[in-house]
Amino acid sequence: MREFQYVANATRVVFGEGAVSKVIDEVRRFGASRALILSTPFQRTDAEALAQQIAPLAVGVFAGATMHTPVDVTKEALLLFDALSADCIIALGGGSTIGLGKAMAYRNDAPQLVVATTYAGSEVTPILGQTENGIKTTVRAASILPETVIYDPVLTYSLPVEMSITSGLNAMAHAIEGLYVQERNPITSMMALEGVSALKSSLPAIVANPGDREARSGALYGSWLCGVVLGTVGMALHHKLCHVLGGSFNLPHADTHAILLPHTVAYTEKAIPELLAPVASLFAAKTAASGLYDFAAGLGAPLRLRDLGVSESNLEHATQIATTNPYWNPRPLEPAAIRDLLQGALEGVRPA
Ligand code: NAD
Repeated sequence: MREFQYVANATRVVFGEGAVSKVIDEVRRFGASRALILSTPFQRTDAEALAQQIAPLAVGVFAGATMHTPVDVTKEALLLFDALSADCIIALGGGSTIGLGKAMAYRNDAPQLVVATTYAGSEVTPILGQTENGIKTTVRAASILPETVIYDPVLTYSLPVEMSITSGLNAMAHAIEGLYVQERNPITSMMALEGVSALKSSLPAIVANPGDREARSGALYGSWLCGVVLGTVGMALHHKLCHVLGGSFNLPHADTHAILLPHTVAYTEKAIPELLAPVASLFAAKTAASGLYDFAAGLGAPLRLRDLGVSESNLEHATQIATTNPYWNPRPLEPAAIRDLLQGALEGVRPA
């Protein structure tokens, strides 16, 4: 066995149908009594309902969370937090809302309780991506990692099927990249394969019936494991490309991951087929890349960057920024091959 180091991130996880009813207990566990609840504008009603449910522990709702965690929004939320003398944060939602809670805790170290409602996995990572003056930067810090996460599958019944698919593939991308990054280790690789396997069986069942209880539980369980992998080990080409494309062309986060995954895997798999063989075998495919592509196509996932508004004229610029200050990758970044990768993703071609 190769040498490895493993450091576990300490997050308390409360999982189960109806687990949202434990919010009061979890806030008290912090020794807190004045929670500010965060959400996107879309989930404001849910946030307000939660505030009523836990009254008098909630002192307010800030429903201004938005994609890419703009620093201006964080400042606005921090002003409200202080004005209300709040003493903890409850983030109810997906990666955008969780990102806001993390950005606040990064600045004021408030304890965070996350009630996760997508499969993005951000709730179990000490990573924050935030945007200021149009530039997205990423920071890692202990204060960013939420202390407690509640996973209640019932809250994901309302996640539209299209988003369930792309968010689930976003989760898979964390795990699959975790199988070949430099910091990989036997524990995270075990979690990665279990996470991908849970999502592989759950996502088709959700497409068939969005209210399938077992499938919703399985997908949330899988997304937790995949998020833990992302938060424990590093990232490589796939996340770098998604970051570059998402940031430069303002693309939807989960769709970008879903489209690029088979292509980035095909690129890297050539260098480390043995590390991705368990994924190929899980999908009963010759290669992990073709297995992932066929799986995504079978779910009805978006396949073409072109459908997100990317055009051929963007690819040169994208290649240039992707290959400048690249993350480490098992197959080094060759500009001409990266350009080809992006061309394949633009057209949604099945990787060879
Ligand atoms: P999101 O949080 O932007 O949610 C998309 C939309 O779906 C929002 O309007 C939201 O309110 C709504 N929604 C969420 N859950 C719902 C539900 N159960 N039912 C109905 N609607 C629901 O999407 P996301 O993909 O979860 O998050 C994307 C963001 O997270 C990006 O900014 C990305 O950079 C970040 N992210 C960060 C990390 C990290 O570790 N730092 C990891 C993954 C993603």
